[in-house]
Amino acid sequence: MGQDCLFCAIADGRTDADVVSESDRWFAIRDINPQAPVHVLVIPREHLASLDDLEEAHRDLAGELMLAAREVARSEEVSGGYRVVVNTGGRAGQSVHHLHLHVLGGRGMRWPPG
Ligand code: AMP
Ligand code: ZN
Repeated sequence: MGQDCLFCAIADGRTDADVVSESDRWFAIRDINPQAPVHVLVIPREHLASLDDLEEAHRDLAGELMLAAREVARSEEVSGGYRVVVNTGGRAGQSVHHLHLHVLGGRGMRWPPG
C-alpha cells in the first residue's frame, strides 16, 4: 500500500500524529476524534487492510498487538476498565483501511455497542 494510506503515512513519518508508544512492529497514537477520555489506536507498521487480512504468518504480530493494547491501557491508567475494538469492514464502521485496535477507556461503557 503506502502512498494512499493514512496510517502508512504516519508510520513513515510523512504525516504527524501524537505517538504515545511504539516498537519495531507497531505504534500507538491518540485518536484525532476521541470517543472517550482515553482513545488510543494501536497500529501495526505492516500494511494489513483489516482483520480479514490476518494470516497464520501474523500469529506473533497479532499477539504483540494485544499486548500493546494492554500496555497502552496500563500507561494511560485505565487497566481494569477499558475496551479494545477492531472495526472490520465498512459495515462495522471501519473508515481507515489499515488494521488498528482502538483502546478506549476513562468512562463507563454500554453493551452492545451501536
Ligand atoms: P475506524 O473507523 O475503526 O477505521 O477508525 C479510524 C480512526 O482513525 C477514527 O477513530 C478516526 O478518528 C481516527 N483518525 C483518522 N485520522 C486520524 C489521524 N490523522 N490521526 C489520528 N487518528 C485519526
Ligand atoms: Zn497502510
